[in-house]
Amino acid sequence: MLTNAASKIYVSRRESTRPETPMLSVIVPVFNEEDVIVHFLEATRPVLDQTGLSYEYVFIDDGSRDRTADILSRELKTGLPGRLLALSRNFGKEAALSAGLEAAKGDIAVIIDADLQDPPELILQMLDGWRAGYDVVYGLRVDRSSDTLMKRSTAGMFYRLFNRLANIDMPANAGDFRLIDRVVIDALLRLPERNRFMKGLFAWVGFPSMAIPYERPPRKAGTGKFNYWKLWNFALDGLTGFTTLPLRVWFYGGVLVSLGAFAYAIYLILRVFVSGIDVPGYASLMVALLFFSGVQLLSIGMVGEYIARLFNEAKQRPVYILQDVIEGGSEGTRSQTHKASNGK
Ligand code: UDP
Ligand code: MG
Repeated sequence: MLTNAASKIYVSRRESTRPETPMLSVIVPVFNEEDVIVHFLEATRPVLDQTGLSYEYVFIDDGSRDRTADILSRELKTGLPGRLLALSRNFGKEAALSAGLEAAKGDIAVIIDADLQDPPELILQMLDGWRAGYDVVYGLRVDRSSDTLMKRSTAGMFYRLFNRLANIDMPANAGDFRLIDRVVIDALLRLPERNRFMKGLFAWVGFPSMAIPYERPPRKAGTGKFNYWKLWNFALDGLTGFTTLPLRVWFYGGVLVSLGAFAYAIYLILRVFVSGIDVPGYASLMVALLFFSGVQLLSIGMVGEYIARLFNEAKQRPVYILQDVIEGGSEGTRSQTHKASNGK
């Protein structure tokens, strides 16, 4: 862990390169959010105006089949600062976030869900954290009562397992809701992998981080987009992306089983010498046969999970395909100093 002294040295070095009045990019992935998107704008604009910074929205329409994109393009065309990136189909939230990070021009970015489960007021506290020298200020869900018991307990198990197996520390109950400095955005953009398990990538790139606890309210409107099958695969993406232990553990399992089998073989041979040959043993044979077929299938399946992901990485397909970009007004609030740049 970073000591205070060490982080101070680091911070003072960075402070000299930080802009006095940074430009803020607000990255919002949206997928079928027509019911909530107007509420989202109503709730976030006053907060963003209150920051006194110039800002832009970066919406990523992740293949919505409802009016989300229409509503947003209308808002953008009537002066909402920022842009809408329309992906060619639904690529998933992780891919959408990568698209948003690539398109963000700000010195800092806030990643926020459209359903108002991430309270916009927290952005002000996050900015304070950034001003205090942190490169990452993330929201920590202290109260997840808006999630079902099943979701909470499976999520808890996942975080425990992940942090045991992976060599990085991923804070439990931190979502994607966070403010990150340009250095973090650039670091994330340098990661070449196709498997964009963002929570893991955030943890992997590191940087001085600060948590802001908050109670996660239920969705303002619309419906959640993740079912248990999606979450299960998401968890597998996370684990396989950040640890190889599930692959390697079978070697040690194999060694143990072989030793056991060797000892048992010696016992069987000795028994023949002592008490002659006897045939019974159907039950033990059957149990051993079924048990080890199960273990073998399981281990092959585990290897398969990795091979499938290797295959996806090897194909080198882009993480997402952009279909359209709709530009909005120049930028929010007072400061007119920001010039168009490509942001990288
Ligand atoms: N989302 C997305 N693509 C997807 C699924 C979700 O861009 O395939 C967006 C969604 O519009 C929302 C955010 O990701 O802004 C979080 O989605 P949701 O509220 O369903 O997730 P949860 O709150 O259950 O984590
Ligand atoms: Mg939500």
